[in-house]
Amino acid sequence: MVNASLLDSVLTLQSQGLMQGTSGNASVRHGNGYVITPSGMPISDMQANSMVEMDMQGKAASAGKPSSEWRFHHDIYQAKPEISAVIHTHSMFATTIACLRKDIPPFHYMIAVAGGDTIRCADYALFGTQALSDHALEALKDSRACLLANHGMIAVGKTLQQAIEVAVEVETLCEQYWRALQIGEPRLLSPQEMQEVFEQFKGYGSWDK
Ligand code: 13P
Ligand code: ZN
Repeated sequence: MVNASLLDSVLTLQSQGLMQGTSGNASVRHGNGYVITPSGMPISDMQANSMVEMDMQGKAASAGKPSSEWRFHHDIYQAKPEISAVIHTHSMFATTIACLRKDIPPFHYMIAVAGGDTIRCADYALFGTQALSDHALEALKDSRACLLANHGMIAVGKTLQQAIEVAVEVETLCEQYWRALQIGEPRLLSPQEMQEVFEQFKGYGSWDK
């Protein structure tokens, strides 16, 4: 059941153009640990039984090789008890902005879906390392999303559905930011204007802070 919904989620992300090949990974909290996508396997080859069950000691509790990024999935579940799903993509526009090592500023009110007025870009570290996890956790402080320098993005949610919604919004924001940068310098919303967005978000969709 949990494996099938995780597979379903990565297939959805692939069909929306956010995941491709072996790039990216996803997980969902389960029991005392979480279930994560396998390492190095193209999404089109994944089946429900390819998913790997992990405990909170960093050990696989089922067959298969867990995603090389299990450390940040693990560290996010440990640091954010309210979060039950983690998605990592190398989607086109988020990765483009991440390659500039730029934070996404409040150029559009929907930046608020991540919970703050900026979506930070984490410092660069090699994929699959504890250093990458440490940088990601810092950038994810009080946020549902971050970019990873020269790499991609992370989106988290209370459910897989919400994490997908966050990932899709972040990718859209990155495309809009990229487009705006082609023709000028985007005008930014003020802290006061962003405060009003957070107020307006109360009870709106699943974005309540
Ligand atoms: P995995 O196939 O090990 O999940 O790695 C993909 C990836 O995106 C690494 O950052
Ligand atoms: Zn990656």
